[in-house]
Amino acid sequence: MSVNPTTGLPADPEHDPRASYAFDPAYVAALTDRVIASGGEGVTVYAPATGQPLAVVPQSTAADVADAFVRARRAQAAWQRTSLDDRAEILLRLHDIVLDRQDEIMDLICWESGKARKHAFDEPIHIALTARYYARTAHEHLDTQRRRGVIPGLTRAEVNRVPKGVVGIISPWNYPFTMALCDGLPALLAGNAVVTKPDAQTMLSALLGAQLLEEAGFPRDLWNVVAGPGRELGTPIIERSDYVCFTGSTATGRLIAAQCADRLIGCSLELGGKNPLLVLRDADLDKAAEGAVRACFSNAGQLCVSTERMFVADQVYDRFRERFVAATKAMRLSAGLDWGSDMGSLISQDQLDTVVAHVDDAVAKGASVLAGGRARPDLGPYFYEPTILEGVTPEMTCFGHETFGPVISLYRFHDETDAVARANDGEYGLNASIYSRDVRRARVIARQVRCGTVNINEAFGATFASIDTPMGGMRESGMGRRQGGEGIHRYTETQAVASQALLRFGPQYGLDDEQYARMMTWSLRLMKKMGRA
Ligand code: NAD
Repeated sequence: MSVNPTTGLPADPEHDPRASYAFDPAYVAALTDRVIASGGEGVTVYAPATGQPLAVVPQSTAADVADAFVRARRAQAAWQRTSLDDRAEILLRLHDIVLDRQDEIMDLICWESGKARKHAFDEPIHIALTARYYARTAHEHLDTQRRRGVIPGLTRAEVNRVPKGVVGIISPWNYPFTMALCDGLPALLAGNAVVTKPDAQTMLSALLGAQLLEEAGFPRDLWNVVAGPGRELGTPIIERSDYVCFTGSTATGRLIAAQCADRLIGCSLELGGKNPLLVLRDADLDKAAEGAVRACFSNAGQLCVSTERMFVADQVYDRFRERFVAATKAMRLSAGLDWGSDMGSLISQDQLDTVVAHVDDAVAKGASVLAGGRARPDLGPYFYEPTILEGVTPEMTCFGHETFGPVISLYRFHDETDAVARANDGEYGLNASIYSRDVRRARVIARQVRCGTVNINEAFGATFASIDTPMGGMRESGMGRRQGGEGIHRYTETQAVASQALLRFGPQYGLDDEQYARMMTWSLRLMKKMGRA
């Protein structure tokens, strides 16, 4: 039974704001105590699927953010002296902890975000993959590298990777555990400290992540969590960061980029998308329909790489539509912690309002609803059915604007060049999917698609889970990349070190300036002849 740690009496959520039916108050307090907050009123977070209170999260002030950076800088000074192998070892321990404690992690994610368990599962898995990948490639990415010196044999040139210092990470609510952690792991491995501000709606999942980092062996002050509205804490974070990693909307990304530019610090921005999926005439239609359900409705479409536009070849349109509509109508919607659900709740009233507005606007302007199209208050306050629209035209809001919900527009195409042009239409460029039995041809088409990731015969998981590949957006979908070499190098400064032996860069051995210039000109010509870069 839950007990209020202050009174020692059974905790009653109706009267005790620290209590909830979901969690032991002591469990929640161990998480919320990690927020760097000096007092003042906390904010209650509610379970979106049921509306019940989960926890009261302390709120940080600008002064608390400053304090977080003081702690982080102190911790970073010691951390950068630790060996790369020791840091990698901690990441491998995190890998095991996350897999061992996946049930606890998924329970918390489900409570806090309202998503189906199978979509929550993606989160510990992504963190385990990221931790293993960076641990095992630490030396490949971070070791000092020999480069060509200007005078062969006499100039020895090397490049060091120096940590930036303290990285500010601002993350969204949609994948609250992985988005809070995944970008920070390479930052820590590269020798940085982190100050992070997760989204206010999903602080507990992010705080559990912080707890697990400490359990794995990262010093506590290396990872500092602040809580509060982004518009209040964003500026104090950016003012003190040496680099900012942001995931969220394009509108907020623009504000952050401008502030970083003003300070001449770097930033990476993982932003929105209006992601296309192409079903070519030779696609395996069963596979495509199954993949399309995952592409469109994972986490109720609240996923940056989620598909919102589908272009289907004329020759297979009717057959594909039949399969896709049937698979969508067969989806089981429910809240809860068990595995039986295919789709959970949206996160909030705001998200529900956007989805309702986009679908209602499309229908009012002539689109037809092939599946879904209704809110489901009988299941929970923010449930909305997975929805397929046909006949969407440019005047409709959902034609070009990101819905970030379970709504897909289906379009027919006659020739592939036209399909690619339509897929490239608009300002976004995050993720695309192509279904075709001819993978070689699909790879050729992929090169014409202006998106940062392209998945062939898969929704988004093939690129997202291949941590050695970069992930991010072209155009208004972002700047910079997470994952792969780019995902860790963004947190380092390169430093060139070259030592010179025997010959100096000026006249010597009795040569005057003119003779030195001639000798240099001759040696440049010689090196070109020798094929040297
Ligand atoms: P949002 O931009 O409103 O919020 C994201 C984060 O930024 C939150 O932590 C928020 O508190 C903070 N924030 C808000 N205003 C801020 C400000 N002025 N300064 C600093 N921080 C501020 O985004 P959202 O609507 O909550 O999230 C959904 C969006 O995120 C969608 O557009 C989605 O496509 C995008 N997203 C992208 C990725 C990706 O990897 N590309 C992943 C998840 C979500």
